Amino acid sequence: MSSNDPKEAERRARQELEAAHRALEALPPLIEQLAAINEQARALGIFVEDRPLLQCSHCGLTEDELANGQHVTYYEPDEPDTGLRFIQDEADEELFRCPACGAEVRLDPLDPLDEPDNL
Ligand SMILES: [Zn+2]
Repeated sequence: MSSNDPKEAERRARQELEAAHRALEALPPLIEQLAAINEQARALGIFVEDRPLLQCSHCGLTEDELANGQHVTYYEPDEPDTGLRFIQDEADEELFRCPACGAEVRLDPLDPLDEPDNL
């Protein structure tokens, strides 16, 4: 009954392997749930994109995320949401089009949150 018993060690290893398999089998439904939650959040107007907020350098339309998670755009911080949303380019995920003036807006590659290396 020693813990050095090779049979006991094998039994434990087998249990751990089975537990790992069960955890892996649980992943796909979790990923589906996460996608569904993201979709619900998006439908509620909550900002769920994992990218920096945008600002149009041409007309000044600015994207913001309010304290309650609501995704808005405005020209001045005190203004209500314009209801406009930047349109992501289908071919280039770092390229957006301003919904107000149509100018191209590129994600800032120098954003310190996005690019940790300061060369
Ligand atoms: Zn614009």
